[in-house]
Amino acid sequence: MKVTEYYQASVQEVMKKLDVTQYGLTDYEVRGRQKKYGYNELKEGKQKNILQVFFEQFQDFLVLILIAAAIVSIFLGDMDSSIVILVVILLNAILGTVQHARAEKSLNSLKEMAAPVSKVKRNGEIIEIPSRNVIVGDLLILKAGDSISADGRVVESHSLQINESSLTGESLAVDKVANTIVETELALALGDRKNMVYSGSFVTNGRGAVAVTSIGMNTEIGKIAKLIDNAKEKKTPLQVNLDKFGKRLAIGIIFICIVIFALDIIRGRELIDSFMFAVSLAVAAIPEALSSIVTIVLAVGTQNMAKENAIIRKLPAVESLGSVSIICTDKTGTLTQNKMKVQEVYTGEQFFSSNELEPTNPHHKKLLDFAILCNDSTILRDKTIGDPTELALVKLGRELELNEQMIRGLHPRVGEIPFDSTRKLMSTVHRMGNRNVMITKGAVDELISRISRIDSSSSSIITSKQLEQINQANAAFSNAGLRVIAITYKEVFYSKISEKDEQGLTFVGLIAMMDPPRDESAQAVADCIGAGIKPVMITGDHKITAIAIAKQLGILKSPDEAIEGKEIEKLSDRELKNKVENFSVYARVSPEHKIRIVKAWQEKGHVVAMTGDGVNDAPALKQAEIGVAMGKTGTEVAKDASAMILTDDNFLTIVKSISNGRSIYANIKNAIKFLLSGNAGAIFVVLYATLFALPAPFLPIHLLFINLLTDSLPAIAIGLEPHNKKLMKEKPRNINESLLNKKFVSQVGFEGLIIAAVTIIAFQVGLSTGDTAVATTMAFATLCLSRLLHGFNCRSEESIFKIGIFSNLAVWIAFLLGFTILNFVLINGLFEVAELTNSQYLMIYGLSLVPLVIIQVRKLFFGSVKQ
Ligand code: ATP
Repeated sequence: MKVTEYYQASVQEVMKKLDVTQYGLTDYEVRGRQKKYGYNELKEGKQKNILQVFFEQFQDFLVLILIAAAIVSIFLGDMDSSIVILVVILLNAILGTVQHARAEKSLNSLKEMAAPVSKVKRNGEIIEIPSRNVIVGDLLILKAGDSISADGRVVESHSLQINESSLTGESLAVDKVANTIVETELALALGDRKNMVYSGSFVTNGRGAVAVTSIGMNTEIGKIAKLIDNAKEKKTPLQVNLDKFGKRLAIGIIFICIVIFALDIIRGRELIDSFMFAVSLAVAAIPEALSSIVTIVLAVGTQNMAKENAIIRKLPAVESLGSVSIICTDKTGTLTQNKMKVQEVYTGEQFFSSNELEPTNPHHKKLLDFAILCNDSTILRDKTIGDPTELALVKLGRELELNEQMIRGLHPRVGEIPFDSTRKLMSTVHRMGNRNVMITKGAVDELISRISRIDSSSSSIITSKQLEQINQANAAFSNAGLRVIAITYKEVFYSKISEKDEQGLTFVGLIAMMDPPRDESAQAVADCIGAGIKPVMITGDHKITAIAIAKQLGILKSPDEAIEGKEIEKLSDRELKNKVENFSVYARVSPEHKIRIVKAWQEKGHVVAMTGDGVNDAPALKQAEIGVAMGKTGTEVAKDASAMILTDDNFLTIVKSISNGRSIYANIKNAIKFLLSGNAGAIFVVLYATLFALPAPFLPIHLLFINLLTDSLPAIAIGLEPHNKKLMKEKPRNINESLLNKKFVSQVGFEGLIIAAVTIIAFQVGLSTGDTAVATTMAFATLCLSRLLHGFNCRSEESIFKIGIFSNLAVWIAFLLGFTILNFVLINGLFEVAELTNSQYLMIYGLSLVPLVIIQVRKLFFGSVKQ
């Protein structure tokens, strides 16, 4: 069937053509189709294979020069050292490849965790599957907030509205219907296909079902998305900065190497030797690993975060997490358990607790029936399906032996306006005998002005006193932290209702339910405040309910700190910005307010994390530095707009992620400090020898060997440093502050100088024996060992005695590995090292310990130097 035929055919014809029934495809059919159609994905950038990654390791210009010099040197007869140089370069490349592959693997598994899902009907049951497994002929089941993952023909629509802006640029949602459209040529040319939906768009309202007609690259977006083919992973801001810094540093180092090379030549050293030395120094001193260290630490860090229920979708978010100073969080389900339970009921005359309700009392029965009818939730074989607010009503019914499926069978639904958190209302129309009854349930403050009658014994016209009593009951429930739902109804003469019909309603009762705070929320709020982060509650719930819960959790002290959406509307953006810091609770807020609140905080210089779950939350999630979507209850659209997904919807997880973010940033900083200070040490020693016209303190192979052993492995080990709780006692990091600030650079310089000083002493002691080979061996061994030991210094700004000497085993492994290989080289006289006496060994060990001792003593007795 051609695409045009799908929207010109009837639902029955389409289903027949696609060979699918209302029960959806069977597993057997799916397997057959999967072979025929492949997977539903837009081709992504081709993954590099391992060989490509391996060859990329040689793409460094300096490494290539070095290889060339080594080869020339072999032809000139200097076989041994040149071959060793080539082997060391090869080992370095293998190490780089392994690290890259591991980082790639963990980042890919992260991507998979955050992959979109779709609901489809198969074998007669609605199931959730990864969107890439959707196949032609599948029945996609859609509701507000769902992303549409394939093109298809609408076969069922209940006020279904779709936002197609990603295809058409038009941000207004369009209505979608199931009936056959006899399109005019003009309407078609304008893309006006009211019974088709397209991959890449999303549902803003209503619900429906769609028979999938095309997937993957055959969808409309697939046809124009060929560009996505080459989509490259973007680097994080820190990586971009480090790349820039690395380039500048490289130029400086190359300059120094050229000067050293020139001086060597002037002093009559062999050209090829001087050249090899200068290039080796450049290779060893230029920290090529900076940006890849960031990737590896981020990859490991995000894996750990995923284990703690936070899936990072955008890597730069990890860096910003440490700077978050405001968390705007939803109440329901995030701070609370989202396990609603009905506590009390108000019937317009009397208050009842939930266990006092009597299904034999006609008024109670009406209230219960209506609460169950205007409701999409159900309990199927002990499995609860649907929204917790509605489930609470279904559960109440079940406790009183009212089965929702039976009641719904007796009064079938013939029309509806689905719940929408902006309207805070929901209406459904039911057949009751030969009448059509519209039931409207929702927030009391939205409904009160629409109520004109009351279901009571005395009169049916509601009095102002009765309205006042309803308001008072609502306030009393809210004060106790309960969520209140009002139930109303009206007779209508048709089934197709619109918002205009939600007027002139008859009041039946109020149902108040409790959603207790999560046990861990109060502590998480306290931790947040201790870490200089302000938690702010944003809720669709009533102000009084919100205040009650916020007070319990320590988010708010006085009711003045709460504001309602209505009041926000009266404020201009400027006024909101000026007042925003006075509020910790925003109640009766709609998604449109959320974006204004985020912006106001940002304008006050804050870095904002914002939670969201609904389709309309997407703009606010994008606006916040860290958009946090709910994994359990969140819509696909919210997830797609977020930087991070919480798989447990829990506020505590946000706080943990911030702590992780701070820790990852600190680890990256420490790893970089390790690399830079060690490299600075090597440069200082060579400069010293050149200035004082001494022989070269290292052979080229020594420099490369140090590069291999003391660069990336210990740096990565430092990057694995476990959480330091102290980080959550500090203020958030200023997002604009560069990692390479003055203090950091001076610390790198200072530590580099100490390493250089002990190496120079070792070198001079060696020279005093009159044997240059002994001197270079001692300098090489001291530099190598002191750098390895310096790894312990760089673990934290605190002394290792405070953070625990053995709390990071990776650093120990990197150290012991390096130490063993170094001794193996020394004892076996590899790499042209001279034979050393015992006292020379002792001297090397002793001197190498000096930087560790000095820096640890300083940290222990003079406190950590804050960067
Ligand atoms: P939070 O923002 O804290 O997570 P929420 O998103 O759950 O709260 P909404 O779901 O927007 O808030 O609910 C706002 C109000 O709408 C509630 O106080 C309640 O009165 C009403 N309400 C909630 N769910 C329903 C529903 N299914 N049907 C009718 N009214 C509802």
